[in-house]
Amino acid sequence: MSRQFRGSQSCLRAKKSLGQNFCIDERIPNEIIKELNPSNDYSVWEIGPGKGALTKRILDTGADLHLFEIDERLKDILEELSPKEKITWGDFLELKNEDLPVPTKPLLVCGNLPYYCGTPIIKRFLEKGPTPVRMVFLLQHEVALKASVPVNHKEYSYLSVHTALFAKARIGSNKYGPASFVPQPKIDSSLLILEPIQMSEQERQKRLNALKYISALFNQRRKIALSTLKRTFPETTDWIERFSKLGIDEKARPENISPEQFLELFN
Ligand code: SAM
Repeated sequence: MSRQFRGSQSCLRAKKSLGQNFCIDERIPNEIIKELNPSNDYSVWEIGPGKGALTKRILDTGADLHLFEIDERLKDILEELSPKEKITWGDFLELKNEDLPVPTKPLLVCGNLPYYCGTPIIKRFLEKGPTPVRMVFLLQHEVALKASVPVNHKEYSYLSVHTALFAKARIGSNKYGPASFVPQPKIDSSLLILEPIQMSEQERQKRLNALKYISALFNQRRKIALSTLKRTFPETTDWIERFSKLGIDEKARPENISPEQFLELFN
């Protein structure tokens, strides 16, 4: 079933603080490549290439690849795979848009993301851009699930709404257990496949603005949404009238309100 990669056998000690669980299961790069579908028609960014388990597979497709890696101990391994100028060292979350390379072709983004900062990395793309054609990430299974479920699902949450406001999302078909990585994490992992919605800056700001209300609602997810709004934002709107105008049940909880309804409600 799983095959050890050459890179994973190097004696470099994994740093827990950097979320280093190196992939040793070739089904993972297989599924990422299938979903990402890179080729020489695309620029591809890989976040957190580690020892290159996925990197080699992307390079084989002829895509124009740029790597972002925080751990400079991986320099020898990664510079053997990729030209120096195609590697940015440092914390991806610290990079401003103007520090990022300019893709020469439509952009695809992928990575087996560290668990401690997978969600912030995704949010960074969705909220600030750039807007890739497709993004495929390996994440903690629960996070991939929450990010991809529809309204009224038991896992529907702030992350589901946040993701849906900026992208079409679905979860990959496989769940990978701890044995797919070295060292073994305590959790299962799955792919999250995102197709970001192309939108104007004005539309993006409108959606970001709606998020502050949505976040306040999901902080009290078991409470009736209308009561929370009346209590938290009493001045801004006649919430009863707004619910009635949009046909949203006055007794609805946040988990019963769809991303589209949230958008209408808060704009
Ligand atoms: N892609 C490799 C694999 O599948 O074996 C490594 C995956 S490991 C889960 C996460 C990688 O992200 C590590 O190489 C780690 O050093 C890197 N990383 C962690 N935090 C990062 C950050 N803030 N910016 C860029 N890379 C980061």
